[in-house]
Amino acid sequence: MRPRPGKCPICFSPRVRVVQGPLEFEYKGRKVKVLDVEYEKCLACGEMTTDYDESKHIDSVVLGNAEERRKSCRVAASKTVRRDL
Ligand SMILES: [Zn+2]
Repeated sequence: MRPRPGKCPICFSPRVRVVQGPLEFEYKGRKVKVLDVEYEKCLACGEMTTDYDESKHIDSVVLGNAEERRKSCRVAASKTVRRDL
């Protein structure tokens, strides 16, 4: 078990709860859904915070998705070039 959540970093309310579930993040204007995120949600102001491990996991999913998109863009671009030749 994780330690009890502390206080909200935004409003310092102690009404912070650990929640687990999918979260949507925005990365470079795109929305990326990350499944199974464990985060702390402030019941007072709605702020959601993740710990270091969890944020690394989120980064890898969000950046991983972005990387895949970049790769498929590159493949599409090279196809276009080949067709032009
Ligand atoms: Zn708060």
